[in-house]
Amino acid sequence: MTNKYMYFIANWKMFGGLNTLNKLHKVVNFLNKFKKKKFVKVVYCPPNTLICPMSKKLKNSTIEVGAQNCHENETFGAFTGSVNSKMLKDVGAKYVIIGHSENRDFGETDKLINLKIKNALKSGLKVIFCIGESLKERRKKITKQVLNRQIKIGLNKIKNKNKIIIAYEPVWSIGTGLVPKSNELLEIINFIKRKIKVYKILYGGSVNPKNIKELKSINNINGFLIGGASQDSKKFIDIIKKTYN
Ligand code: PGA
Repeated sequence: MTNKYMYFIANWKMFGGLNTLNKLHKVVNFLNKFKKKKFVKVVYCPPNTLICPMSKKLKNSTIEVGAQNCHENETFGAFTGSVNSKMLKDVGAKYVIIGHSENRDFGETDKLINLKIKNALKSGLKVIFCIGESLKERRKKITKQVLNRQIKIGLNKIKNKNKIIIAYEPVWSIGTGLVPKSNELLEIINFIKRKIKVYKILYGGSVNPKNIKELKSINNINGFLIGGASQDSKKFIDIIKKTYN
């Protein structure tokens, strides 16, 4: 039985419309009755289009809402198609995911990520900062160097670090069904903990009801960033339940 305070961050990616919000009541009802609810923090990160209606829908629940990315500028500007952290906060977001590998793949550099984190914190959002090595980097055995660089530049000159949660997401694990072996994951989590002491560290990458028992038993993990499985309320609830069994 776990009595640890754990985060369950649902990353919906580019999925979902207004009708998708109807499935949230299952999770809300489950959490209301769940014996260990005081140890559970659920944050839904839907596409930007759903932040406002979702926040309204979850207003009287313990679930919070976050965004999946933001523009680096803190102020309004001529940036067609972009949304900044202030605007996300304005419509109900409390968190924002920054540095997800799917965005790094589109050219987000560590420096840009650093700027985004700084301004998101200024806007009053909590940041879920994603780091992780690619398969190529893993094969070259440079995982720790990569993480070190991502952390060092990504968090350069950032003061209020208690508003940041780290999500370790090996890129080769996202959406593939593959997860690191427990001993490897423990080693990496401990490596990150040594680098940055006060942070909460989550694991992300193919978390599902089948592998959660093994993953939750790894010391020092403070929760999970869940993509695919978070879109299915039953699976998401199962993951939470199994974390505390
Ligand atoms: P996944 O995605 O759970 O579908 O692997 C995780 C993520 O990209 O945050």
